[in-house]
Amino acid sequence: MEPATNLFDLGPAAMREYFAAAGERPYRATQMLKWMYHRGVTELGSMTDISKPLRQRLAETTRFALPEIVSEQVSADGTRKWLLRVDAQNSIESVFIPEPDRGTLCISSQVGCALDCSFCSTGKQGFSRNLDVAEIIGQLWLVNRRLGYFESRQRIVSNVVMMGMGEPLLNFDNVVQAMSLMIDDLGFGLAHKRVTLSTVGVVPGIDRLAETSQVSLAVSLHAPTDELRNLLVPINRRYPLAELLAACRRYAEATGGEPITFEYVMLAGINDSPAEARELGRLLRGLPAKVNLIPFNAFPQSGYTRSPMPAIDQFRDILREAGLVTITRRPRGEDIDAACGQLVGQVLPRAARLRRPRLEHHT
Ligand code: SAH
Repeated sequence: MEPATNLFDLGPAAMREYFAAAGERPYRATQMLKWMYHRGVTELGSMTDISKPLRQRLAETTRFALPEIVSEQVSADGTRKWLLRVDAQNSIESVFIPEPDRGTLCISSQVGCALDCSFCSTGKQGFSRNLDVAEIIGQLWLVNRRLGYFESRQRIVSNVVMMGMGEPLLNFDNVVQAMSLMIDDLGFGLAHKRVTLSTVGVVPGIDRLAETSQVSLAVSLHAPTDELRNLLVPINRRYPLAELLAACRRYAEATGGEPITFEYVMLAGINDSPAEARELGRLLRGLPAKVNLIPFNAFPQSGYTRSPMPAIDQFRDILREAGLVTITRRPRGEDIDAACGQLVGQVLPRAARLRRPRLEHHT
């Protein structure tokens, strides 16, 4: 049988609890975290400052398990995408986006997604399961190893965005624990501001996050009215715009007025008119807000097209006139399907899995 505890599932606090419960001194947790996250070492045999008897016990009771890299693709623009196998049926994707002044890793929080936003290919695949802590932090660990971080300690990945597959606030505990490993000095030591959680607008999750974390928040807005947002982002029926923006205001207050990023996918003829830009400007008035316009990335059977560039520029100018810092996100990695909304991995949806036994029963 496999040893019970995967040490990659333990955030800094859980690691301290684990060693305390095993009757060990607190500095053992510090040593272990440094081996794993500063030096990238996962062989107990190399952990020479940990006593031999303790290493023997750890060998019997713990393991170091991470996803497995299945493939790596490199875009003409330098963007890299990895397919990572998390179990026999399921794979996820992570994307590294190099820019002159930073390197951003976009990581997944769930296998698939249950929220089914009408323009997102991840949603079309259905939902399989939450990722565990090891599978979330493992994306950053594996990419860092691949990019030579543990040898050079050069921060090639300087920013992490939880903008891959899944809705991070619906996998709250694991995501928060993984983010604490990104931020903690004994983990990867990234500044809070350089870790961004993007949510479709799960209001109770935003409030919980404000209590536990100081990370940057991004909200996928996509429409300035409930009528339109109900169509594009079905969860808006449960948490309409007024409630969502009130939660954003509370989050900004709790984190000292840091601006919240509002993502807005530009869909031709759907949400990209000048009137909608003005409406959006009014909606966000008084909030510490930035707007990211995302040119829609097509995928088979998406049924939408990208807004023409002049329409995106006009939309941006109206928002800027309303006093909002607005940028247009340049699509990256399109040639390898690595752009926003194009991540699909390999997902065995839970519904299909549940259906199968029933079908067998009838035959
Ligand atoms: N579920 C979270 C995290 C995913 S972030 C959230 O919705 O925020 C991924 C971002 O890409 C979201 O803003 C999403 O709305 C956007 N997106 C999804 N499909 C897209 C597409 N086809 N083209 C451009 N952006 C898309």
